[in-house]
Amino acid sequence: MSKNLFDLTGKVAVITGGGGVLGGSMAVSLAEAGVKIVILDLHKDAAESRAKEITDQGGEAIGLAGNVLDQDNLELVKEDILSKWGTIDILINAAGGNMPGATITPEQTIFDLSIDAFRKVSDLNLNGSVIPSLVFGKVMANQGTGVIINISSMSVAQAITRVAGYSASKAAIENFTRWMAVEMAHKYGEGIRVNAIAPGFFIGEQNRALLTNPDGSYTERGNTVIRKTPMGRFGVAEELNGAIQYLCSGASKFVTGIVIPIDGGFSAFSGV
Ligand code: NAD
Repeated sequence: MSKNLFDLTGKVAVITGGGGVLGGSMAVSLAEAGVKIVILDLHKDAAESRAKEITDQGGEAIGLAGNVLDQDNLELVKEDILSKWGTIDILINAAGGNMPGATITPEQTIFDLSIDAFRKVSDLNLNGSVIPSLVFGKVMANQGTGVIINISSMSVAQAITRVAGYSASKAAIENFTRWMAVEMAHKYGEGIRVNAIAPGFFIGEQNRALLTNPDGSYTERGNTVIRKTPMGRFGVAEELNGAIQYLCSGASKFVTGIVIPIDGGFSAFSGV
């Protein structure tokens, strides 16, 4: 006789930014664990093609266009999901990332930072997780169960040059993770848990040009990251999925308000 602590069969998960690299990998992994997946992405094509990839492999998934900054839009999406599947058990806030205008070049100083770009990147990385948490978290509050996972970054605990707005908003989402975890447990009980993961460096579309040259070799910045990562390599998207399944499942039923680094040792190492 055995009991699978990690069983997720039949749960319904909404993954914002699920058309992207990390959210997409989480979607596939949860679908393989028997979770019904809603991929929500600004880009309808990306959402639909990821959903098709899952259904082609025998999983259950739908891809929807949605903007994490538009509360009215998310309310409509919520109604669509509830009429199709009747519940929302998991929310992964994977929409986010840096934006070209919000990165200062090596020659620039903080005084060259565009406040408009700072606002936009902060809006996406902070409000873009808070708004879906309010909309989909309400379903969880009503049913007394649910899991929310936010995505933080290595730029929170130690400054990472050039990405000021991104770092400030990721720091804020860690704080919000703790805040909402406490609030939900106090007011709606222990069945609702809010946690975060903090990935180290994973090559994606947003950071590819910062970390790699067109010929695939690492840029100076890429090499600096590798030197500070004891495992000596970048992460692979699938390496986040063990922690995601742990946080989504009953295996972590007494865990709320934490941030799990998944970083090849980056956060443990002084660099010296
Ligand atoms: P990605 O660009 O591949 O995916 C992000 C997805 O979010 C895209 O599909 C995009 O269309 C979608 N999106 C953007 N704005 C949206 C909006 N307003 N509404 C709905 N969807 C929207 O990025 P990724 O590398 O998969 O990163 C996912 C998350 O992980 C981000 O929060 C990022 O900051 C974080 N993260 C990434 C790394 C890394 O190394 N790649 C490291 C730490 C944290």
